Amino acid sequence: MSDHLPKAIDEGLAGCHSCGKVSPAALGRCPRCGSSLHTRKPASVQRTVAYLLGATALYIPANLLPVMTMTEWGDVMEPTILEGMVEFWRREAYPIALVIFVASIMIPLIKIVALGWLCAAATGRVKPSPRVLGRIYWLTELLGRWSMVDIFVVSILVALVQFGTVMTVSPRSGALAFAGVVVLTMFAATSFDPRLLWDQLDLGENSDTIPPQTESE
Ligand SMILES: [Zn+2]
Repeated sequence: MSDHLPKAIDEGLAGCHSCGKVSPAALGRCPRCGSSLHTRKPASVQRTVAYLLGATALYIPANLLPVMTMTEWGDVMEPTILEGMVEFWRREAYPIALVIFVASIMIPLIKIVALGWLCAAATGRVKPSPRVLGRIYWLTELLGRWSMVDIFVVSILVALVQFGTVMTVSPRSGALAFAGVVVLTMFAATSFDPRLLWDQLDLGENSDTIPPQTESE
């Protein structure tokens, strides 16, 4: 069976994170590009969890504090992300309201929950089927590719509003917290080593081949 093929880690080999060259991990440095070699990213889960905790802490002010000050005909508004979304909806700009909801509220939340769950799976705290694990990992990869959407939305918003000559916009502390959430979730995603997930699956398979001792009949 293909699952009995040796893994690189069993042979003491490591793939370079920068150039992809496979070399003996004992070398310490990649012979091609000089990057440091390790079979798994060091303290991957701990670093991912730390970034996720930071992102979670900032997610609250990002949604509760005003993200901008808008001045229109002398009226000053200081909307939060949610109020901004409701305001666009009220003005019948439905696509913009939807994009704000998806990019600023849903995507960061899904990223944090999915990565947290993957950390639990990588340390064996949850034991999902390989299929579910693959799906969730695929989802985080997909969201990772779209991680700049949130920043894109903010820049579009500002540009849209600045086009109106009667309106001025300046960022507030909520926007800073929101940028923090985006940056920290990106760091969390890059710190996570997905090979830890497949290591756990292999551990599970090996324990299946040895039948567990039953305590009673
Ligand atoms: Zn290299």
